Amino acid sequence: MDRKLIGSIEGGGTKFVCAVIDQDNQILAETRVPTITPEETLGACLDFFRQQESLLGKLTALGIACFGPLDAHPGSPTYGHILATPKAGWAFTDVVRPFEEGLGIPVGFDTDVNGAVLAEARWGAGIGLSDLVYITIGTGIGGGAIVNGELLHGLMHLEMGHVRLPRIAGDEGFAGVCPFHRDCFEGLANGPAMAARWGQPAETLEQGHPAWEMEAEYIALALQGVICTLAPQRIILGGGVMSAEFLFPMIREKTLKYLNGYIRSEVILDEIEEYIVPPGLGTRSGILGGKALGEKAIVS
Ligand code: ZN
Repeated sequence: MDRKLIGSIEGGGTKFVCAVIDQDNQILAETRVPTITPEETLGACLDFFRQQESLLGKLTALGIACFGPLDAHPGSPTYGHILATPKAGWAFTDVVRPFEEGLGIPVGFDTDVNGAVLAEARWGAGIGLSDLVYITIGTGIGGGAIVNGELLHGLMHLEMGHVRLPRIAGDEGFAGVCPFHRDCFEGLANGPAMAARWGQPAETLEQGHPAWEMEAEYIALALQGVICTLAPQRIILGGGVMSAEFLFPMIREKTLKYLNGYIRSEVILDEIEEYIVPPGLGTRSGILGGKALGEKAIVS
């Protein structure tokens, strides 16, 4: 059997998930490496892939869907690096070269959310769409976008989590948890913001708690901005906070409220349930994002 094996890394602030994935998206091997120092973490990831190559066969490519900020512009002097991150020891780490040199295969590299939106476009909730947005709402908030069929990069990469949002009535006294902006999407609506505002972890807030009403308001405000600036054909919401599925109908209703009839698209007005959706790949959009970036590295 002629298998094509792609290595995938979903690099996060607390752990790096590594997997070997075949052409049918079957995960043949997987491991989780804690995010300690770059040397330890990247070294353990490299060891995993070398070991798996000896067991399963040579990898065709590797893709790294990574936390940022990072440089995903090929040709840039710092391509493949994580940039100025508060994550201790990781600022200006070259994430790509250890794998290019260690495995001798093409390595794709982009943000975790660009990986996820690419995977959703190929195999998940965005099949057949040329303009798609994926937003993760969890410990952090970030978004990736496909515009005219291509991943959007621009000057660096999108930072949808750091757009300032107006305060919801009743939330004026909350400080906001983003150290850079306080009142941005992430600072007001990530998991730690919910925990700080209500004094308990987000996952312990029961359905019906006013926390969720406020959370849905902030997400809807952010989505209004995304819809007006990128005009996606669909918006996918993932991440830990969005595992509370009852948020979806609340967000859809409030997004329509904030758009206030201005955008006259039937896709939004008549099919909002199909417009703001959970990931089609479930919790696998991150790791399959790495695979999608690896496949992209082969052809580019
Ligand atoms: Zn911010």
